[in-house]
Amino acid sequence: MREPITTDLVVLGGGPGGYAAAFLAADRGVKTALIDAAPKPGGTCLHVGCIPSKALLHVANVIHSAHDAAQFGIQYAAPTIDLPALRAKQLKIVDTMASHLLELCKRREVKHIAGRGTFTDANTIQVDNGTQVKFQHAIIATGSSPTKLPAFDIGSDHVWDSTAALKLDSIPATLLVVGGGYIGLELGTVYTALGSKVTVVELTPALLPGVDPDLVQPLQARLKNEFANIFLSTKVAKITAAKSGIQATLDGDVPEKQMTFEKVLVAVGRRPNSTNFGLDKIGVAVDDKGFIQVNEQRRTSVPHIFAIGDVAGEPMLAHKAAHEGKLTAQIIAGESSLVWDARAVPAVVFTDPEIAWCGLTETEAKKHAREVKVGKFRWGASGRAATLGRSDGLSKILVDPKTDMILGVGLAGPGAGELISEGVVAIEMGATAKDLALCIHPHPTLTETISEAAETLHGLASHFLVMKKN
Ligand code: FAD
Ligand code: NAD
Repeated sequence: MREPITTDLVVLGGGPGGYAAAFLAADRGVKTALIDAAPKPGGTCLHVGCIPSKALLHVANVIHSAHDAAQFGIQYAAPTIDLPALRAKQLKIVDTMASHLLELCKRREVKHIAGRGTFTDANTIQVDNGTQVKFQHAIIATGSSPTKLPAFDIGSDHVWDSTAALKLDSIPATLLVVGGGYIGLELGTVYTALGSKVTVVELTPALLPGVDPDLVQPLQARLKNEFANIFLSTKVAKITAAKSGIQATLDGDVPEKQMTFEKVLVAVGRRPNSTNFGLDKIGVAVDDKGFIQVNEQRRTSVPHIFAIGDVAGEPMLAHKAAHEGKLTAQIIAGESSLVWDARAVPAVVFTDPEIAWCGLTETEAKKHAREVKVGKFRWGASGRAATLGRSDGLSKILVDPKTDMILGVGLAGPGAGELISEGVVAIEMGATAKDLALCIHPHPTLTETISEAAETLHGLASHFLVMKKN
């Protein structure tokens, strides 16, 4: 039996939440160990999520841009796709970043332990490589996994989850995507660009349910031409293995109830990883969806144990996990009065066009009967959008009608994911729409669409016509 490792802090899970927490705690002088099931840190986001998917979406963007250049009189031939080379580049990006994280563990003297950890009591984790870790504090950052539905569990390797789809084993001639959310639309975009005929089936009446419909509209209009089919309010009732792939039975207002696809990608959400590692034994409370219950400091029902990231609640986004990780690291390092006080967590769907929002949305405002004033600027009136041949975007700002304080920002258009940070800064700094309108934005840029949205609220917009009253 090996001697147990004794540490001030153990972080279970080495994704963007876990490693951000471990690194900052170590920087603050806390003796820290980081346990992760994979050989190198990075978690879902780096190994099978954000980074590999965005590398492929970059390729999709290059293909789209080459295609769109035709409107400027530039013709490119259809691309030739060298799948092994694309796969190698994607793996290299991931492995370089993961190796860098491992190096940062060493330099910061964070003890990295590769293996699955299980709590055996409220101050001990047993790792399946034989290591035992005794700790004062723990941060649980075990992330999430794809939701599995029994109807799709037919034991066929023609049925993919996002991890399988990102492996790029082949480019199927036809791909059924079950779920019109983040993953379905991002990976549907990738496979369409690579040459697959993609059919998206979404259970609810809208793509990206919950996102403001006017932001989704420009994306939906473009995807209508790119995807083979988008079936809304439709359920995939059953799938069976067929000679030529997978036969799907569709339940909804569709032209054919039975359709056959080479592959099926199931992207119907993700579940928190909160079972099978001893939480029940140590009394950490979990809600009915499996999320670990936490307070505003991200403390669990066992006060010296914290939980962050996907396992601790929505939104399941890497930057939210990292922010929580840094918060808990600082609390454990002695800044005991800190609490979660972020007013705006940005969200980005990296489709073409991209959709991004932060703070309050119009959908939420309506749901909670909260009165807001909305300034909208359509990109048809933007000089920069015209020069890109992409006038299909929208920028909008939600403000408090009494104080003019910016409550939310929503964007649709190429580059929306980069632009949204202006909204985050504005909300966090307590800016008003007038403040934003009075900040000079460079011309010609897409950032002007945000200032013009603010200007519409104050009668200052040049490219938005306000009809004069008689
Ligand atoms: P994770 O990154 O899931 O890491 C948890 C780690 O804990 C994993 O390495 C896991 O193996 C390990 N683990 C679990 N249990 C144990 C145990 N018992 N012992 C040891 N180790 C354990 N978010 C964005 O913000 N932007 C994006 O563009 C984006 N794209 C995505 C694309 C895809 C295809 C997917 C699937 C997700 C994407 N996400 C994106 C979501 C993002 O990946 C997650 O929100 C983020 O990874 C959550 O971080 P985390 O630290 O909570 O957990
Ligand atoms: P999601 O919740 O975004 O979308 C799932 C979709 O599937 C929903 O629209 C839902 O209505 C639909 N659905 C559910 N059951 C269905 C069924 N039986 N048939 C048809 N449709 C069904 O989930 P996801 O796309 O799996 O992504 C999981 C999470 O990962 C996201 O919520 C997000 O937090 C994260 N993620 C983020 C990014 C990003 O930040 N760009 C990218 C990918 C994933």
